[in-house]
Amino acid sequence: MHGLLAALPDDELPAYVYDLAHLREHVRTIRAALPDRVELLYAAKANSDPRILHTLAEHVHGFEVASGGELDHVRAIVPRAPIAFGGPGKTQWELIRALDARAERLHIESEHELRLLATLLGGRNVDVLLRVDLPVHVGRVALAMGGGPFGMDPVQLDRCLEVMESVPGVRLRGLHFHLASGLQARPHLLLVDEVLAWAESWARDRGVDLREVNVGGGMGVDYTHPSGLYDWPALGAGLRRILARHPHLTLRIEPGRSVTAYCGRYVTQVLDIKSSRGQAFAVLRGGTHHLRTPAAKQHDQPFEVIPDDTWRRPWNRPEVRDEPVTLVGQLCTPKDVLASRIVVERLRVGDRVAFAMAGAYAWNISHHAFLMHPHPTFHHLDDTGTPVADGTYAGRPS
Ligand SMILES: *Cc1c(COP(=O)(O)O)cnc(C)c1O
Repeated sequence: MHGLLAALPDDELPAYVYDLAHLREHVRTIRAALPDRVELLYAAKANSDPRILHTLAEHVHGFEVASGGELDHVRAIVPRAPIAFGGPGKTQWELIRALDARAERLHIESEHELRLLATLLGGRNVDVLLRVDLPVHVGRVALAMGGGPFGMDPVQLDRCLEVMESVPGVRLRGLHFHLASGLQARPHLLLVDEVLAWAESWARDRGVDLREVNVGGGMGVDYTHPSGLYDWPALGAGLRRILARHPHLTLRIEPGRSVTAYCGRYVTQVLDIKSSRGQAFAVLRGGTHHLRTPAAKQHDQPFEVIPDDTWRRPWNRPEVRDEPVTLVGQLCTPKDVLASRIVVERLRVGDRVAFAMAGAYAWNISHHAFLMHPHPTFHHLDDTGTPVADGTYAGRPS
């Protein structure tokens, strides 16, 4: 990997490098840890790069999309993959698209949305999950979704049941929950247990035939410990125990970040190094307009230095040695920080820096029009670690 990143030509930098072989191995491990009665969907909003979707398609049940744009994209890239369409504020156009595209599931976010959907059926059937905003305690997590605009209050569910009585084309398969992001396996299992107990008792009281519960994504990714993965074996074993108590239920999960975060790197180069009021700064080509993750999550993006010994200027290149340095980008804002006060052995102008864990919520959440710098190039490595066919995917997107 190191050698490959060092071999990228300078004019290809900054570059996103996606390791598809690593991704394939990772998703296989996830799938193998889960019981058969758990269907694994990938939340496309984490990263919908076409080759990533292709790689995942062989190992997941389907894809969760959160907009009409994602729906069209996923359908075009992996036409046969089942699609679950969720997310708040679906437009009439998006609901029609989901019906036309025969989305496998629609995750309904409100009574109004259900009523709107009912007017658009035109004789078609659609399988839905009602998304519930269950008031449970999720503990300390990166992102709590409850008590907001996501899903519906449990009292609204009964109104939805009434609406569905008069609209036979809308078939209720079960309930959907996505209550938090950044959960670790053990607290996650407690949450799933609580959610399923509530769902079963809700269904029993209403005489609803509950076939399916989607418990969402949110499996934690620890950016301070790149090798400390979410405990999929513990989740799998726990779900097996829980499912034994719910013999007629199929469970679904729809992780995003924990699937693709690890396969991506953002590789760039040190343009300048300076010291200001006793603090060292390395200015990198690119920045948070390409990799917004550290700004969005307020963390230090883990990185590795790839030394470049080809210095040809007649002066000594600026460097830092065994001292803390703040890695910033080219934007004219103090918020353009990728990693703050990290001690490095040595970092010199011209050296490369490869930021790890840049495969999810990275390029696709970045404000890349700001300042009009060139976009990164995109590279995909196959099983042998060599770039796939054309080396880059569609070059620099415009
Ligand atoms: C974003 C989202 C996910 C994926 O969350 P991750 O934290 O990336 O695993 C799953 N389900 C829904 C409804 C979401 O909004």
